[in-house]
Amino acid sequence: MLKNTYLQEVYGEASRRSAGEKEFLQAVLEVLESLEPVIERDPSYEKLGIIERLIEPERFIQFRVPWVDDSGKVRVNRGYRVQFNSAIGPYKGGLRFHPSVNASIIKFLGFEQTFKNSLTTLPMGGGKGGADFDPKGKSDGEVMRFCQSFMSEIFRHIGPDTDVPAGDIGVGGREVGFMFGQYKRLKNEFTGVLTGKGLSFGGSLARTEATGYGACYFTEEMLSHLKGESLKGKRVVISGSGNVATYCAEKLLQLGALPVTVSDSSGYAYDEKGIDIALLKQIKEVERGRVSDYAARRPGAKYGENCREVFTVPCDVAMPCATQNELDETSAEALIKNGVIAVSEGANMPCTPGAVEKLLAAGVLFGPAKAANAGGVATSGLEMSQNSQRYSWSFEEVDSKLHDIMKKVYRSAAEAAEEYGMAGNILAGANIAGFLKVGAAMKAQGIV
Ligand code: NDP
Repeated sequence: MLKNTYLQEVYGEASRRSAGEKEFLQAVLEVLESLEPVIERDPSYEKLGIIERLIEPERFIQFRVPWVDDSGKVRVNRGYRVQFNSAIGPYKGGLRFHPSVNASIIKFLGFEQTFKNSLTTLPMGGGKGGADFDPKGKSDGEVMRFCQSFMSEIFRHIGPDTDVPAGDIGVGGREVGFMFGQYKRLKNEFTGVLTGKGLSFGGSLARTEATGYGACYFTEEMLSHLKGESLKGKRVVISGSGNVATYCAEKLLQLGALPVTVSDSSGYAYDEKGIDIALLKQIKEVERGRVSDYAARRPGAKYGENCREVFTVPCDVAMPCATQNELDETSAEALIKNGVIAVSEGANMPCTPGAVEKLLAAGVLFGPAKAANAGGVATSGLEMSQNSQRYSWSFEEVDSKLHDIMKKVYRSAAEAAEEYGMAGNILAGANIAGFLKVGAAMKAQGIV
């Protein structure tokens, strides 16, 4: 609940203007709640309309994406790009291809991205995009034609110093490759206009692993700072089985923890011995199969048909890595009952506000997405640096920079929480730390 009258008015106006955009309003409210002490300490934010400007995207593009399926039929999807905030650098944020994509989801992701990118310490503004296209079940040819059509519109809005998209749900190396090829053809330019590229054409080593690895580095910092513990020996429940989930599980195993689950929208696998990464990659990355295939082929693994029940599996740490609002109050209660000590968000906004409230009230450590999954975009930032230099760093160099960045992200969130009287509340700290840098840049750049 907002107590500050200025923020109440701003949120009231946003609710009127963006009526029906529930994910976007959810993300805005969470940030405004955290910013109350900051706004109260410095009245210039109100005078300069910083919050009103921060929640209104600089630009929102919606467009038609026509393409031809394998039977020769013309299909039409809806594409989006939101260029949310460029105060601290070119817009940067992924593209999501999933049937659920709509304006609200793209705006919530772009809004969050602004704070996340600020936290990484790298000069990147916030953006996001995507389409309500489902790559699942489509042939490579269909995916390529869709990607080419999508790029045929957004190429005029992006560029290495303007807006640099990357992957997200449904957009991996294959899709980024097709979009890069089309951009290059249209512009006759070989530039770092997308990140998450293949290694043979400007991609960075460790970008594929970065979000999952980074989430583990962040969780390790949080456990160590707030509880004097580490991930070693911890049982970890992971949801999702895509890019973030896979590399989160891989790093957990390297750190001596035991990831015991993965899931998709059809169900979850519980693997008491610990997830077999090679098998998971074979099924998900090579065969583009399902978690049910993993459970069927892994001796001893069990399969449950309700993906939400993944959070009923007893664990010390939970890392939701699938999608927004997948972990609700019921899931939070189950985790608390089973003695969870930390929840760290690999996905964007996977915990509902009710779940977060319950976890914080129960004293569970909470790593918010903006901070915990910032490793992906941070490494995209490193890919941009390498592209500008026309140079590539080794896997170890990128991984070690990622590790350093995640420590800094944690530290700045923890310090901001302390400074504003909320020590240990990493959610509030991440929102505040992310905001302060963007807010200062907006003040300095005048009314734009
Ligand atoms: P992928 O497409 O690689 O994997 C997504 C996974 O989530 C799949 O297992 C998918 O299952 C599952 N999923 C998607 N939608 C739902 C749903 N409605 N209900 C249950 N499960 C669902 O995506 P990523 O791993 O890249 O992204 C996962 C999350 O991490 C997203 O929130 C994304 O925004 C966030 N993120 C990703 C980053 C990256 O670098 N890739 C960076 C920072 C955040 P199914 O196959 O059944 O759809």
